[in-house]
Amino acid sequence: MIRLYRPSDTVLSQAVRKDMATAQATANTYSRNDPEIERQWNNFRRRKAGQEVWNALTNAYHSKCVFCERVNAKTLDHFRPKERYPKKMFRWNNLLLCCSDCNRSKGNQFLFRDSVPLLLDPTTRDPAEFFEWDTTTGALIAISEPARQPYAMHTLNQLELNDQPLQGERVAKLKAVVYLLARVVREQPVEGDTREQLQAELHPSRPYLGIIRFLFRQPNTFRPLVDASRAKLPEIDSWVKPWL
Ligand SMILES: [Zn+2]
Repeated sequence: MIRLYRPSDTVLSQAVRKDMATAQATANTYSRNDPEIERQWNNFRRRKAGQEVWNALTNAYHSKCVFCERVNAKTLDHFRPKERYPKKMFRWNNLLLCCSDCNRSKGNQFLFRDSVPLLLDPTTRDPAEFFEWDTTTGALIAISEPARQPYAMHTLNQLELNDQPLQGERVAKLKAVVYLLARVVREQPVEGDTREQLQAELHPSRPYLGIIRFLFRQPNTFRPLVDASRAKLPEIDSWVKPWL
C-alpha cells in the first residue's frame, strides 16, 4: 500500500460531471440494497461517463490496485460500498481502482471506529503512518501506536494484504531495487544499463513501491545504501519524487 493523490474531478469533462450529478440525484432516493443500485451502476459503466471515470482513474493510478499495488486493476470500486451507501455511489471521491482479489476481500463490509472508517483509503490517509514493512519477509506490519493500530490491523486483515504471493512479490521488488542501488554505489562510473534498469524499477507504474518508499523514508538496514546511491546518482531523487 502506498500513499496516492486523487486528481480533482476537473479531470472529467463537464458533461461527465453533469451526468454523475444527475445519476447521483436519482441514487439519493434509493434505499440500502435497492436492486436499482446494481442496475444503475451497470448502466453508468456502459455510458461514456463510466468510461471516462475509468480512464481518469487508470491514468492517475497507472492501472494499479490502490490497496495491494498489483498492476492490472480490473474494478472500478466504491470505497464505501454502493449497496450500503447509495448516496455516495456516483461521487468522484468515493471511487477507486482495485484488483479482483481486493474487491472480493473487501466485499460489502464497512466498519467504523470512533466514526472513522476502519479501512484505510490511501488517497486520504497515508499508509506510511499506519504500517512498517518487514524487509526480510515483505510483510506489512501494523504500527503499535494505539490510536492507529486498529485501522492498520483491520485493513491488513480485511484485504488479506499479507497473503503469501503478495509478500513474496514485495520481497522480490525490494531485492531488485537493492541490487541496482548496490551497483550504483559500486560502479565507477555508473553504467547506462544500471541507470536505465533502476529508473524503470522506480517508475510510478511499477508494482509494490510501498516497500521501496519505506526503504527510502524510514529507518531500516538498507538506509545507508539508499543514501549512498542517492548521493552518487542525484537523478534518483527525481525518479522517486512522484511517490515518495
Ligand atoms: Zn488489490
